[in-house]
Parts: sequence; structure tokens; C-alpha cells
Amino acid sequence: MMSELSPMTLEKFMEGLVKRNPKEPEFHQAVLEVAEVVIPYINLHPKYIRSRILERMTEPDRTLIFRVCWEDDEHHIQVNRGYRVQFNNAIGPYKGGLRFHPSVNLSILKFLGFEQTFKNSLTQLPMGAAKGGANFDPKGKSEWEIMRFCQSFMTELSKHIGEDIDVPAGDIGVGAREISFMFGQYKRLKNEFTGTLTGKGLEFGGSLIRKEATGYGCVYFMEEMLKNNNDSIKGKRCLVSGSGNVALYATEKLIAVGAKVVTLSDSSGFIYVPDGIDQEQLEFVIELKVFRRGRLAKAAEHFKWEYHPDKKPWGVPADLAFPCATQNEIDVGQADLMIKNGIRAVAEGANMPTLSTAIKKFQNAGVLFAPGKASNAGGVAVSGLEMTQNSLRMAWGKDDIDLMLRSIMGDIHQQCLRYGEEAGNIDYVKGANISGFKKVADAMLAYGVV
Ligand code: NDP
Repeated sequence: MMSELSPMTLEKFMEGLVKRNPKEPEFHQAVLEVAEVVIPYINLHPKYIRSRILERMTEPDRTLIFRVCWEDDEHHIQVNRGYRVQFNNAIGPYKGGLRFHPSVNLSILKFLGFEQTFKNSLTQLPMGAAKGGANFDPKGKSEWEIMRFCQSFMTELSKHIGEDIDVPAGDIGVGAREISFMFGQYKRLKNEFTGTLTGKGLEFGGSLIRKEATGYGCVYFMEEMLKNNNDSIKGKRCLVSGSGNVALYATEKLIAVGAKVVTLSDSSGFIYVPDGIDQEQLEFVIELKVFRRGRLAKAAEHFKWEYHPDKKPWGVPADLAFPCATQNEIDVGQADLMIKNGIRAVAEGANMPTLSTAIKKFQNAGVLFAPGKASNAGGVAVSGLEMTQNSLRMAWGKDDIDLMLRSIMGDIHQQCLRYGEEAGNIDYVKGANISGFKKVADAMLAYGVV
């Protein structure tokens, strides 16, 4: 006889998770954001309690940790730690970026891999979830040092990935250059040409619009949120943080749709441009930051922009905010300031840039808030399209892919509306998490206990 199921409680679930995963604060934070909205949903659908789906979803399928040795230009041997967290492949091959940054550790990669489960599910494309990287800092390294590091990293990683197994992409510190070095090494080791990495160069299987996709998609999502509130993006003053791949292509799209981007930042400070950055200035910054990994202060010097060292841009009055740098960029004090200064909507370009307490502030103040797993899903969506093109051995045109990206972002917005209704308002955090959860959970149920 099966005993009566007791409902799940958030406190008990989180207590167990923290106990099983000690000293992983970012992972706890990412799970809590999901559990807060998904547990009430699970309690209405006991089949998920019986199969312990949330407990299974918060345990990665496997975690790989490996040594990466390489030789620097002075012939000294360097040792880094490499990781791949293969989180969940219920709905497709593992898929997610690689991050090269000195702060990389297991907690950060588990939070990113867990988030990826929901994000990839929201795209409706057949992609599971993973994340990986190394505590390697590409800043200040020569081209050859980066190449040797990437080759050594891939020598181990290649044993665990494949076009139908796990398909990595870029993230912080991993752009087109690093992906190319890794793809070259993978191809050499395996003696095969398959789409095992995404974000590749256009000459060797990369997709048009992939590098722009996260930033463009984030702007498309913001447009959907505003449209649903009878508003539009044209003429809005926007705060963008970061000046990497996501931030700069979000800026490009914002300029194209007639908004004004008044700030950008990097880990050393932010620039303030009251009249908005123009396309020509943006191209200079892209060259400086994306291709040469330089400092934003150089652009400020060049264009005589106001520069605020060691500060974040959140105190500048504006209408919309796009946090696009890294996790935990907006705390509750900054959220208060942004609300006071007139921010009406926030779309996360980065993963988990807003602390949970700050999210609640925004929601309570009626600020539209889009969590990264919905608003930054455009990057992985076009990676999914890159995988399809590689499998078909063909390439789609730019306009076709942009249309598909728009339609995927529109569809994610619809899913948020469907599952996020809350007392006449839309809670995008609830909508994204429940919709992302449902698809993966139902696949896991169908497989039985595996
Ligand atoms: P990049 O490496 O291209 O750029 C990262 C930017 O963030 C740089 O401006 C960097 O400044 C800044 N930054 C990094 N760490 C910190 C820090 N600790 N404090 C302040 N600023 C920091 O990365 P991406 O643009 O690719 O990624 C940005 C965010 O978007 C990440 O959260 C990533 O996970 C997320 N994301 C990326 C996707 C993609 O397609 N690339 C897809 C979905 C999400 P500096 O130059 O000084 O280091």
C-alpha cells in the first residue's frame, strides 16, 4: 500500500539541498529562486512529489573535474582546474557554455548548469543542460598562451563530449577565438568534422547571428514585455552593464530600435553617455572589448566620456535596465535606487545578475522583471539552430535566423504569460520557472526511475 504523500515544503527541501551541497552559495541561490515558485506547483501535481523530480533535477547527472596543464611564454608550467557539469539530458544532448574566469568554481558552474536546464527547455528546442569552464584568466595572456590552454583543456574535455552527447559553447572569457582553438583541437583528436561546439566561425560551421543572439534576444524579450503593457522601447533611456558579447550586441539592437544606451561597464568601472552611444562608437568598443579584451577606460579616454572607476551604473536615472555582466550585480539597495530613479523594466542579459531580494523589490514596485533564463535564452536558441544546420550540413540566411530568434523569444514570452499570471499581473520568474520545469519533469517521469 502506498502511503499518503505529504506536500513538499520549501524549508525542508532547501535544508536538504544545502546539507548535500555545502559551501555552494550561488547554487543554493539559483535553486531557491526556482523552488520558491515550483514547489507550490508541484504540490498541486503530486505525481512530481512521488517521483522526487525536484530532488533529481537538482542533482547533476555527473560532474567532471580535471587538471589542465599548459606552458606559458616564459616556459613555466601552469596548472588550472577544468570542469564540466553535465546537469540533465532528459530533453536532448547536454548543452551550455564554457566560462574561463579566475572566479570559476563548482558552485558557480552548478548554478549555471541548473539554470540552463530551464532556459533550454523554454526554447522548445531539443537541448539538455550543462556548464563548464576553468579558473583560467584569459586577460593579459598572449594569443599563443590562450591557444595552448584551450588545446590542453580540450584534450581532456573531448573524452566526454560529442554532437549527440554534449555540445559546449562560449560564456564569460570564451568567445570566437577560444571556441576556434578548442574546435580545432577537438577535430584533430577525434578525426571528425561534426558540430560538437557552437559559436564557431562562419567558415567552419558557425551560424549567422550566433554572436549577436543573446543580446538581440534580450531586447526582443523586453519589447514583448513592453508591448504587453501597451508601451514601446523607442526613445527609452537604457542602462546596460558589462561590455562583453551580451552587453554590446544588446546595445547594437537597442540603437537599431531607437532606444538610447547611456551606460556600459566592465570590472573596472562604468561609462556614462547622456545622449546615448551611437553605432560608430559602439563599433570601437566592440573591437576594444570583444576582440582585444581591453579596458573600457580606454574608450572613455578616446571619446571623452564620463568614466566612473570601481562603480556600477545603477545610480543613473533611466527607463530600462539590462544587467549583462555577471551574477549578483544588483542588490537590494541598488534596486531601491533604480526604482526611485524611474526604472520601469529590467531584462537580465547575464545569468542571475539580480539578487533574490532585489527581484522581490522590483516586483513589489510594479517594475517588469524578466529572469535571465527567459530573457537571455536567445544565445542558446541560436546555438540550437547552429546544431540543426550542422546536422543538415547546410546554412540558413541571416534574416531567416533573426526571424526564428524573434519567434522563439516571442514564444518564451507567451509561456511566461501562460504560467506566470499572479493576481492580474505577470510574474515572469514564476512563468519561466514553471514552464521550463514542466517539460523536463514530464520527460523524466516518462523515463521511469533513471
Ligand atoms: P564576456 O566575457 O564577453 O563579457 C563579460 C563582461 O562582464 C565584461 O564586460 C566583463 O568585464 C564583465 N564582468 C565579468 N565579470 C565581472 C565581475 N566580476 N564584475 C564586473 N564585471 C564583470 O561574457 P558574455 O557577455 O558572454 O557573458 C556575460 C553574461 O551573460 C554572463 O553572466 C553569461 O553567463 C551570460 N550569458 C552569456 C551568453 C552568451 O551567449 N555569451 C548566453 C547567455 C547568458 P571585464 O572585461 O573587465 O572582465
